Amino acid sequence: MNTKICRVCEEKKPISKFYKAKTNKDGYMNTCILCWYQKTVLYRKKNREKYNSWCNKYRKKHLKKYARLKRGHRKRQRDWAFEIIANGKPIKCSKHEEWNCCGDPYELDYLTLDHIDGDGFRHRKEYTKDTGLWQGAADIYAWVKKNPEIARKKLQIVCMNANMMKAKRNMEYRKR
Ligand SMILES: [Zn+2]
Ligand SMILES: [Zn+2]
Repeated sequence: MNTKICRVCEEKKPISKFYKAKTNKDGYMNTCILCWYQKTVLYRKKNREKYNSWCNKYRKKHLKKYARLKRGHRKRQRDWAFEIIANGKPIKCSKHEEWNCCGDPYELDYLTLDHIDGDGFRHRKEYTKDTGLWQGAADIYAWVKKNPEIARKKLQIVCMNANMMKAKRNMEYRKR
């Protein structure tokens, strides 16, 4: 079977002018590519505005929900990363005793991962190896999960205060 009659234009056309369709008995669509294109693509084009406005409405409605879901995912990843770095020890600010930087060193919301050698910028390249794009802390969390041994040597958990103090002074220190 090298030809087929298009149901729409009723022309006999070579089978190469039909898209494949697994659901059809002969394995090809009943509409030729040209007719299919006119019917669907042009229709879609014509209705794109309609379609887009519907999408926007939908998006707006669900934006909050998506944001919440995304945050939830990030939080889980973060918890994972903290667990790995803490390595069985309690998750707390590791500078608390030395710097008296935070009221509650266990306050999870205020904790962040910090580069012990202050070379975070240089390592961003390493974290983004997979995607090539820097997508924020999520990349670090993913990297920690993949390289727990190296991560424990390079990163420590500190509170935001300590993290900022360190950046401000631009000083480097070692974990004791
Ligand atoms: Zn046709
Ligand atoms: Zn602290």
